[in-house]
Amino acid sequence: MRAGLPEPVKHEPTLPGPVFAAHFHLPGEPTGPYTYGRDENPTWTRLERAVGELEAPGEDGVETLVFASGMAAISSVLFSQLRTGDTAVLPSDGYQALPLVREQLEAYGVRVRTAPTGGDAQLDVLDGARLLWIETPSNPGLDVCDIRRLVEAAHARGALVAVDNTLATPLGQRPLELGADFSVASGTKQLTGHGDLLLGYVCGRGGAPMAAVRRWRKIVGAIPGPMEAWLAHRSLATLQLRVDRQDATALAVAEALRDWPEELGVRHPGLPSDPSHAIAVRQMRRHGCVVSFTLPTRARAERFLGALRLVDDATSFGGVRSTAERRGRWGGDAVPKGFIRLSVGAEDPEDLVADVLRALKESAG
Ligand code: PLP
Repeated sequence: MRAGLPEPVKHEPTLPGPVFAAHFHLPGEPTGPYTYGRDENPTWTRLERAVGELEAPGEDGVETLVFASGMAAISSVLFSQLRTGDTAVLPSDGYQALPLVREQLEAYGVRVRTAPTGGDAQLDVLDGARLLWIETPSNPGLDVCDIRRLVEAAHARGALVAVDNTLATPLGQRPLELGADFSVASGTKQLTGHGDLLLGYVCGRGGAPMAAVRRWRKIVGAIPGPMEAWLAHRSLATLQLRVDRQDATALAVAEALRDWPEELGVRHPGLPSDPSHAIAVRQMRRHGCVVSFTLPTRARAERFLGALRLVDDATSFGGVRSTAERRGRWGGDAVPKGFIRLSVGAEDPEDLVADVLRALKESAG
C-alpha cells in the first residue's frame, strides 16, 4: 500500500507525478543520481524502491531495476550474465518466448540445456552450468519447483539462479528469501493488474551481477516510460486487494471445474489435489490467479470461449478483468488443442463461477 512512497512533505502529493525528462540540469562534473533519462529517472527510483520492498522486505543491499517489459528484464539477465562457452539451463515448459531467447543465446555460442519445471529434472543437467533459470509456477502448465532445493544444488555447482516470479507476484512468493540470485518478472500481469501497460523488473542482491544487468539496460535502452512507471506504482496501492480477491476466486473457479461432471484435468496450485500443491504451500503465500484445464476438442474450447460473458477471449493474465484463451492457438506451447488458460479477475466471485459453468454447459450442447 505504501511501498516506495516518499516521506511526507507538507503540500506535496503522496505519490509525486511522473517526471518527464530526457536530461536533467547537470552543471560541472556529471555526478548522479539524475543525469540522462536512459540511465535513471526519479519516477523509476520510487517504483524500484517499491518493488524491492515487496520482493525482499527489510533486506538491505537489494537492488531493483525496472525495464520496458518482462522480456526486456529476462533478456537483460540472460545476456548480461552469460558469455560464449557458458551453459544455461532453461525451462522446457516456460513462457513461450523463451525458445526465441534460446535461439539467440545459441547464436552467441551459449550452450542451452532444458528441463521441465516439475520433478527436479534440473538437478540432472546442472553440472557445469553458469545459470539456472526457473519459472514457478510455470506458464501455462502451472507446475511448480522447489526453489530452495534447486538454489542449493545450483550454488553448490557455482551456478547463479534466476526465478521468473511473474505468476506468483512478490506477494505470492519471494525468490530472494529462498536463496535465488535474481527475481525477475513481467510487471505487465498481476503486479500492475489493469492490462494497460507493459513493464518488467529485475531484483537482486547488489554487486557485480546486478551491475552487469544495469549496464545491459543502459546499452540496450530497454527502459520504461515515466508514465508507465508511474501508473505501475499507482497500481501497487491495490496489489494486495487485487491479489487476495483474484487468487481466492481462482481457487473457487478451480474447485467448480474440478467438481464438473466431465474430467477437465484442471490445474491450480491452490487445489489440494494438484501435483503442485505440496511444494506451493511450502514456498508460496498465495497461489496465483491462473487456472488451466482441457476441453476435449478445439471446437468445444472455442464454443466455451464464445459463450463466456464475463471473461474476455484475450491473451495475457493477471488483470482485474478476467481473460481466457485457447493457448494452443499460438503454437508455442506443448498443450492439447482444447487447453484453456483462464486468468481470474476481480469480478464478483459467484457471478464469475456461474458464468464459467454456464459456458461449459452451453458449449457441451
Ligand atoms: N514471464 C512470464 C511468465 C510471462 O507469462 C510473460 C508474458 O506473458 C513474460 C515473462 C513476458 O512479459 P512481457 O510480455 O511483459 O514482456
